[in-house]
Amino acid sequence: MPNLKARLLGGWIGDRLLRDALVESLEELGPRYRRVVLRAPWATELSGAAGEKVQLFLPEVGTRTYTPFDFDRAAGRFSVLVYVHGDTPGPSFARALEVAAEVRLIGPQASTPLDGLEGPVSLFGDETSFAVARTLRGIERLRDRSTLRFEVSSLEDAFYAVDALDIPRDALVAKEPADAHLKGIADALSGSIVLTGRASSIQKVREHLRAAGKRKQTVRAYWADGKTGLD
Ligand SMILES: Cc1cc2nc3c(=O)[nH]c(=O)nc-3n(C[C@H](O)[C@H](O)[C@H](O)COP(=O)(O)OP(=O)(O)OC[C@H]3O[C@@H](n4cnc5c(N)ncnc54)[C@H](O)[C@@H]3O)c2cc1C
Repeated sequence: MPNLKARLLGGWIGDRLLRDALVESLEELGPRYRRVVLRAPWATELSGAAGEKVQLFLPEVGTRTYTPFDFDRAAGRFSVLVYVHGDTPGPSFARALEVAAEVRLIGPQASTPLDGLEGPVSLFGDETSFAVARTLRGIERLRDRSTLRFEVSSLEDAFYAVDALDIPRDALVAKEPADAHLKGIADALSGSIVLTGRASSIQKVREHLRAAGKRKQTVRAYWADGKTGLD
């Protein structure tokens, strides 16, 4: 039985809220990441601000949130990067997509504000944060004044994605038992600190930051253990 959100968006409310886009191309970035390039006439009018989100409509399920990047306004095109962490609705939907498929979505809307940040900027996240890192690196004045750190379950799998998105490999940190890696990550962060990704990791990094007196933080949890479609 579809949940209420799925039923509402599947009906006339969805017809008003959702925008249609076509899958222009798909690319496997290793076994765990799928880049989806979307195209739509309305995308020629987007501002393409850094750190926005789109909520993809998954029929019978509801929505799942992703970060649009690589806006090409002239062509009306942008991309999303889906981390295929398991057989949950978001990755299953992305895996089933084919070129020329129609995708319905809400947004783009503001989510993780980056444009207004003063440098230096540090971004912490995980496999779900590579797209927002890509948009951060697109801000010329911050590109060489930003520190990136991502906790990942597999360095090898993540290399495919970061190489494709021109994100330095040394931004990746392998997860360690009992989250021992998070202290070193917190030590590396400075300036305006943006915390994204897994809620529990954000919480632990914040504890380390607080102890070190680093208080200038923007927080945006992207997912939490045991919760579905956090956004
Ligand atoms: C503003 C914003 C931007 C985002 N941008 C991106 C993006 O660009 N790319 C991207 O891949 N994701 C992104 N996410 C995260 C994504 O929306 C969540 O991971 C979402 O839960 C995925 O849906 P799902 O169907 O896989 O899992 P759900 O059905 O939502 O959750 C089922 C279970 O899966 C587990 N889970 C969820 N996400 C993960 C994960 N990443 N790793 C391990 N376990 C997980 C949790 O335990 C959860 O209980 C973003 C989220 C937000 C809020």
